[in-house]
Amino acid sequence: MRNLPRVLIVEDESAIAELIAVNLRHNGLTPIWAENAERAQIEVDAVLPDVILLDWMLPGQSGLTLARKWRLDSRTKGVPIIMLTAKSEEGDKVSGLDAGADDYITKPFSTQELLARIRAVLRRRTPEQASDNVTLGELTLDGASHRVSHAGQPIKMGPTEFKLLNFLMHHPERVHSRASLLDKVWGDHVFIEERTVDVHIKRLREVLGLAGDMVETVRGAGYRITTLQQK
Ligand code: CA
Repeated sequence: MRNLPRVLIVEDESAIAELIAVNLRHNGLTPIWAENAERAQIEVDAVLPDVILLDWMLPGQSGLTLARKWRLDSRTKGVPIIMLTAKSEEGDKVSGLDAGADDYITKPFSTQELLARIRAVLRRRTPEQASDNVTLGELTLDGASHRVSHAGQPIKMGPTEFKLLNFLMHHPERVHSRASLLDKVWGDHVFIEERTVDVHIKRLREVLGLAGDMVETVRGAGYRITTLQQK
């Protein structure tokens, strides 16, 4: 039997926790319920969950405090946290994210919305990344050794530019929207602005130098990599 992703639900209201748990179970996830911060810590110490759904308003230690604590702990800092809360003000959203939450969902939320957020953070941990070699014109990328070269000359770039180029080169001549690139390269686009893609495309073109022209902007649609140069 394959391991189903474990989702720790930290929620003091048992009716809400139960409803979430039933829905998670029906969707191939393993829910674990903790009704307060102390129980949650015991569960986390026992088995590291794949995702934590963390209620903001808990008796005793708040969800926000817990999120901060888990982010500082090397064992838990990589576990995605989705804050659940009745608060919907922009300032609260920011403090939740500042405390280290990966996403934020306001009560009442639909099951579909919650599942979509959970899948997004799970995907974000393992976005699509090919690790083989790919060549396009004179541009070569080695996914295993993380090396890129153009006409035999090595090109150095940052990890995000590398992931972006890796995806584009594996799907050439096709237009990719910003939202689709965020999904495929970043693994999640709930809290990343689409403008982020433009910034990394610009950097990618700069480091590619002469090969930078291969990365085309398709007005109103997105970006593509092509060997068919426009005159
Ligand atoms: Ca609560």
